[in-house]
Amino acid sequence: MDEDNKKFGMMTRALHCGWKCDPATGASGLPIYASSAFQFHDTAHAAKLFNLEEDGFIYSRLSNPTVCAFEEGLNALEGGFGCVATSSGQAAFTHLVAALCSSGDNLVVSTKVYGGTLTLLQNVFSRFGVETRLVDGDHPCQFEQTIDDRTCGMITETIGNPLMNVAPLETLAHISERHGVPLIIDNTFASPALCRPIEWGANIVVHSTTKYISGNGNLVGGAIIDGGNFDWGRYPDKFPTIAKPDPAYHGVNFSERFGASALWAKLHMAIIRDLGGCPSAFDAYLLHLSISTLCLRMKRHSENALEVAKFLEAHPAVEWVRYPGLTSHPQNDMAKIYLKDGCGGMIAFSVKGGVEAGRKLLDSLKLIGHMANLGDSRTLIIHPASTTHSQLSSEQRKAAGLSDGLIRLSVGLEDTADIFDDLSAGLEAAAR
Ligand SMILES: *Cc1c(COP(=O)(O)O)cnc(C)c1O
Repeated sequence: MDEDNKKFGMMTRALHCGWKCDPATGASGLPIYASSAFQFHDTAHAAKLFNLEEDGFIYSRLSNPTVCAFEEGLNALEGGFGCVATSSGQAAFTHLVAALCSSGDNLVVSTKVYGGTLTLLQNVFSRFGVETRLVDGDHPCQFEQTIDDRTCGMITETIGNPLMNVAPLETLAHISERHGVPLIIDNTFASPALCRPIEWGANIVVHSTTKYISGNGNLVGGAIIDGGNFDWGRYPDKFPTIAKPDPAYHGVNFSERFGASALWAKLHMAIIRDLGGCPSAFDAYLLHLSISTLCLRMKRHSENALEVAKFLEAHPAVEWVRYPGLTSHPQNDMAKIYLKDGCGGMIAFSVKGGVEAGRKLLDSLKLIGHMANLGDSRTLIIHPASTTHSQLSSEQRKAAGLSDGLIRLSVGLEDTADIFDDLSAGLEAAAR
C-alpha cells in the first residue's frame, strides 16, 4: 500500500484511495474499461511489459484499470501491501491455495469456517494432495499442535460463519510467526470498516466481496489482500512457488524480485494469469462505488443488529442468540478488543420447537428476504443446515457447532421497528 494512505482515516480512504480522476479526460467517475486488451506503443514496449520491466496493461485476465482502482481502494481499507480481486470468494481461496501449496503440503483450518471453504479444501484440493487438518478455531493451541514443516497456512474467519465466533487474532498471529506459517483471515463478516486483521498480525486477508463490500446483493466477487508482512525468502523449501525461480515466468524469483509484495506479485502476475478467475470491469466498477459507503453501512448494520439481537434474546419463542456484541456471547471479551467499532450485521439464533418452528418463522416473513446471501443492505434470513451447509455431513455440521435449528439472520439497514414487526409476526407463527 501507498504509505501515504495509512495516514488517512477509514472514511477518507474509502472515498479517495484507488481513484482520483481519469488522466485522459479528467472525468471524476471511474470509467468501466470494457476492454479485453490494451494497445502497445511499439514492440519494445510490448516486450518490456511481458518481461515485467515496466508496469502497464496487457490483457484483462492479467489486469484491468477499473479492476485496479477497486483493488487499490480495498487494499487501502485493509492496510495491505497489495490486493488481487477475483471473480468470487471461492475463486479467492482457490487462487490463494494454488499460490501457496503443492502436493504433500497441508493447511490447518478452523472447523467453524464457511461451509463452502471446507468443501473446496476437503473435496477438491485433497485430490491434488493438499491436506486439510481441522482444528477447533476457539482453541489456538490446537493450531500450534497441528502445524508441521509442510503446513503452508492457518485459516480462520474474523467472525465465523454461521456461529459468530470471534477469532483470537493476536494469539493466532504469534503462533503463525513462531512457526513460519502465514495466518490467513477471511474477513468477510467484519469487513475492514470494523476489523483490519493485518493490523493484528495476520499475513493474508480473504474476502467474499459479494457480501458487505458490495452491500447491494448485485454481484459475486472476491479478493485477496497481501499484508506484505511475511518473509517468504526465509522459507524457500516450504514456499518454492514464491521463493525459488519460477519456470513459468522466465525463472523469476518473486521473493527476491518483489520483496514484501512477493505474494501479491505471484498472484497478480502468475496465478490469476494461469487460473483465470478475474472479475469483470463492470463488477469492479460496482464494488468501487460500494466501498465509498462501507464505513457508514457497517456502523448502521452494527447498530441495527445489536438492537435486533437484544430483541431476540428477550423474546419467549427464541431458544438462544449468538451475536458478538451481546454480553452473553462466549467471545464478547474478544469482540471488545477486535470489534471496537461494532460487531457487524450477522446474528445466529434458534427458535424453540426446532426445525419445524424455524420453517414456520421463515415462511411467514414478509419484509425479510429468504435467500442464500448475506451482507446485503436489506435484511435476509436463511436456515444453514438445509441450505448453505447442506453439503457437509451431519458429523461435519456437528464439528462446526451447527445445530439443525440454527437460523442465520443478516440484519440490514432498514428502520429497526419494521424489522421487529416482521420478526414478531414470524415468531408468533413459529410458537403457534
Ligand atoms: C460467501 C462466503 C464465501 C464464499 O464467497 P462467494 O463470493 O460466495 O464465492 C467465503 N467466505 C465467507 C465467510 C462467506 O460468507
